[in-house]
Amino acid sequence: MSGGDGVLRKARPGFRWSDVDLLAYKDEGSAPFKSVSRQTLFGGEGLEGELRYFEIEPSGHSTLERHEHRHAVVILRGRGQCLVGDEILAVAPHDLLAIPSWTWHQFRANAGETLGFLCLVNRNRDKPQLPGEADLTSLRADPAIAAFLDEA
Ligand code: MN
Repeated sequence: MSGGDGVLRKARPGFRWSDVDLLAYKDEGSAPFKSVSRQTLFGGEGLEGELRYFEIEPSGHSTLERHEHRHAVVILRGRGQCLVGDEILAVAPHDLLAIPSWTWHQFRANAGETLGFLCLVNRNRDKPQLPGEADLTSLRADPAIAAFLDEA
């Protein structure tokens, strides 16, 4: 009996996998972000979740957003920071990060290293909300968060 297609997809150098496409993080222009790629490792029919691998190049960042669904994150490579609510958290390989519902969050590869992480989400999930002017004013009231958001 053969293993069948897709049972084993071998790791390749550089955090790539056989039969896994390297995709854009989001559609260009749909939301602010910089230098982020996405690979969907597991998902589809029969699974309640999707496991994605995101990679952010040095000085890049994910979208500042919030939504009802949660994220379960495992850092795989590099150091950086993540804003979660009103906290700026330093992250490093093998750290586990839980992003709660309706909590503003953004990853930044701001330590001069490529930041790569696994992110588990529900397959059926709500669309992220972007911050409005009032949200940004509220976040920026904390000087540390303002500095984080303004990093190149
Ligand atoms: Mn998110």
